[in-house]
Amino acid sequence: MIRLVALLLSASFAIAADPPKTSYVIRGATLHDGSGKAGHKGDVHIRGDRMAAVGAVGKVADATEIDGTGLVVCPGFIDLHTHCDSGLLGKVGRANKNYITQGCTTVVTGNCGSGPVDAGAYFKKLEAGGIATNEIHLATHNSIREQVMGNANRAPTAEELAKMEGLVDQAMKDGTFGLSTGLIYTPGTYAKTDEIAALAKVVGRHGGLYASHIRDESAGLLTAIEEAVKIGTEGSCRVHVSHIKASGKSSWGTSVGAVELIEAARKKGTEVTADQYPYIASSTSLGATVVPTRYRAGTKKEYLARLNDPTAGPKIRAAVEATLKGEGAKRIRIARYAKNPMWQGKDLAAIAEREKKSPTDIALEIERNGGAQVVNFGMSEDDVRVYMKRPWVATASDGGVQTPGDTVPHPRSYGTFPRKIGKYAIEDGLVTLEAAIRSSSGLPADILKLTHRGYLKPDYFADVVVFDPKTYRDTATFEKPHQYAAGVKWVFVNGVPVVADGKHQPTRLPGKVLRWKGK
Ligand SMILES: [Zn+2]
Repeated sequence: MIRLVALLLSASFAIAADPPKTSYVIRGATLHDGSGKAGHKGDVHIRGDRMAAVGAVGKVADATEIDGTGLVVCPGFIDLHTHCDSGLLGKVGRANKNYITQGCTTVVTGNCGSGPVDAGAYFKKLEAGGIATNEIHLATHNSIREQVMGNANRAPTAEELAKMEGLVDQAMKDGTFGLSTGLIYTPGTYAKTDEIAALAKVVGRHGGLYASHIRDESAGLLTAIEEAVKIGTEGSCRVHVSHIKASGKSSWGTSVGAVELIEAARKKGTEVTADQYPYIASSTSLGATVVPTRYRAGTKKEYLARLNDPTAGPKIRAAVEATLKGEGAKRIRIARYAKNPMWQGKDLAAIAEREKKSPTDIALEIERNGGAQVVNFGMSEDDVRVYMKRPWVATASDGGVQTPGDTVPHPRSYGTFPRKIGKYAIEDGLVTLEAAIRSSSGLPADILKLTHRGYLKPDYFADVVVFDPKTYRDTATFEKPHQYAAGVKWVFVNGVPVVADGKHQPTRLPGKVLRWKGK
């Protein structure tokens, strides 16, 4: 009986916590407000879902006092670039533990052109079941194009383009913050610049953002950035380059040219920004990594037939071989491959050696068996650092909702923010702590034109993180990625502590769907 009462009490506490009627004062911490200004000693008073005061806070009756001595208080992190779309709808995924435990309080979905097309229906599902982090969605070019014209490698007819414009317009009316493209992925890759510019114009009328996984992150990096700027300019949209990098050894060093190009556009008045994850490896499907897009059109059946086709087959084989030659096969590790989980965590060269086959044979075998997710060690640390120092580059993970298991995914889903702040700022001093925090809070809020979030300010929503700078670190590695971040003491989402005194509270789901209200 006592146990039953305790159970009921704990259940009712979880419900009563949303919305909270409580107030908290975090006292004597170092406050970093998200603006990039140096931190200073102070207190934060959280009352309901807002910050009531920031600075010196007197005695507050009935407030829970939190001793902030030695701790940093900053705005909750806003991850501009995630693939949490479907994960957030899961029973466990709603808690979004791998993001919450980093101090991330808002995730943006619909990236790289992929995700729910019907934003209104998606938002309803998120709201019906609840989510721990706030959520922002983008209209998804690839998914929209697929819905209208399948996986066709051609330009749309006038009628098809009008349909796509209609779907983008509806998504913006439903509250998406802009349009995303993924121009290395099918079918978005088959769109020419003018098609995307036409859709960007719809977004521009709503005052939205154009965010792009650009057409080429390797040899054609600069041309691809130019295309993104052109699309944004024609559509009257702000331009955002997703997960900026210089991928593949032959393009190492081109980050310098990319920075010059973007800063020249910014000087001319175009709003161009970027985001970045603080790692030298990327992650996507094996197919997108090794098979040129022109061979990936049509249905799965058509793709499989092409792999065995007497004309196309050898050409695909040659293209895969060219990518995997030299160190190529060693750089690509299998993250997830349902057909043979034993290969997860191993690189293509090692698998090939063990199986006594060539890396190309292994890659083609995987493609024939439905493909795999890979981690690709294609970047140089120097390029990562060049981008990281720019004040217009936000921190974002490109990760998703993760559940610990036998897969070996990219550690960015667990470690992006503590790695940027813990390793690159606090340990290495590459950027200042205040700059690293700004790149994770105020800057992404500005890029999104988000109001009342991203800064520590009175009357702003109480998305607040409290961490210990001595222990706030990423613990997820490429070998053992399923490891939660260390050092986060409190995470408030809309005033509700989802991490309380270092403990994650999985039943608390105070996140909100944030809808774009137009310009
Ligand atoms: Zn992408």
